[in-house]
Amino acid sequence: MINSKEVIELTKKYITNHYNPLSIVISRGKGVWVEDPEGNRYIDMLGTYSASSFGHKHPKIIKAIKKQLDNIALVSNAFYNDQLCLFAEKLAKLTNKDMIVPMNTGSEAVDTAIKCARRWAYDIKKVPQDEAEIIVCENNFHGRNITQCSFSTDDSAKKGFGPFTPGFKIIPYDDIEALKSAISSKTAAFLVETIQCVAGVFIPKPGYLKEAFNYCKKNHILFIDDEVQTGFGRTGKLFACDWDNVKPDIYIFGKFLGGGILPISAIVGNKNILQVFTPGSHGSTFAGNPLASSIALASLEILEEEQFVKRSYELGNYFIKRLREIKNSNIKEIRGKGLVIGIEFYTEARSYCDRLINNGVLCKDTRGKTIRFLPPLIITKDELDWAIKRIIDTLSE
Ligand SMILES: *Cc1c(COP(=O)(O)O)cnc(C)c1O
Repeated sequence: MINSKEVIELTKKYITNHYNPLSIVISRGKGVWVEDPEGNRYIDMLGTYSASSFGHKHPKIIKAIKKQLDNIALVSNAFYNDQLCLFAEKLAKLTNKDMIVPMNTGSEAVDTAIKCARRWAYDIKKVPQDEAEIIVCENNFHGRNITQCSFSTDDSAKKGFGPFTPGFKIIPYDDIEALKSAISSKTAAFLVETIQCVAGVFIPKPGYLKEAFNYCKKNHILFIDDEVQTGFGRTGKLFACDWDNVKPDIYIFGKFLGGGILPISAIVGNKNILQVFTPGSHGSTFAGNPLASSIALASLEILEEEQFVKRSYELGNYFIKRLREIKNSNIKEIRGKGLVIGIEFYTEARSYCDRLINNGVLCKDTRGKTIRFLPPLIITKDELDWAIKRIIDTLSE
């Protein structure tokens, strides 16, 4: 069997270094636990950036995938399949919307929402052709495709990749006046994260999203909520926008839907908006394939059957409270909601991650100075305590 040292050497030789991974190799996993090739165990407090909300190898997901593999995995969108419709129905009912557009990755779903908003602006709102504007926020993270790079404000994600897609206005996050002064008769949509997770877990003031939503409504602008990371219980509500009682025009989902197994994403909205997609206007070979759909359906069923949303809220509050016990003058702030939690330092956070990994806790820094924890929602209190003890020991001075 290939050992950790060999894996790292081969990876460095044959794969570009656009991730600069921490020095740990993972070869097995179950629940919240993962193992390296040498058999060392770690608790997964990153949870694949919220894509492994049910941990690794959740038995119900594995059962669903095996069953579907015995039927069929892939059917092109030239034909109907018997899994996508069931997943779509479940997701539409859960969000109380009419319909969905399935895609594969979060980035693709964001692209889909942008295409939808632009076409809606021309067809319905009657914005002059090719003049639609979409408002986004500073420090956003909406993915890595060229359009999302175009409106990123993170230089490392953007530099050298121009020319960029036009049609975006960038305003400060959590600033309602900035939104009000940015809109014009050509504004199609406001695209926003309900919590800026990648930026370092920034939570807007209570009421901001509601006010933004109301302002968009009044001005006939679509409110597009990127819940790729925050959706499905992660923040202690079903969706992060529920904290502000907002029902966005378009939800964007990803990560969670793949059940910790494979990519599947979707946008969700009402028919009067989503129906701008007419035959031939959009698509992807793998989008809505039966295997991915069966996993997404199983994920939503598990979420419904068990009390994950409530648990996420309670365990998250407990986790934050315990983290505040850490005595370290280099900690600037601890922020979080449910089980998305960040510790911001005054200096780079990466060396803390190295030390946490040495003590059995997997985590990752984001944008330099913040460690972001997104443990699987299935984590038990005992497992969380196991992690907390090590985090406190490692980060205390
Ligand atoms: C991860 C993420 C994306 C992009 O999803 P990919 O599947 O990596 O393309 C978009 N928006 C948010 C908020 C995300 O967290």
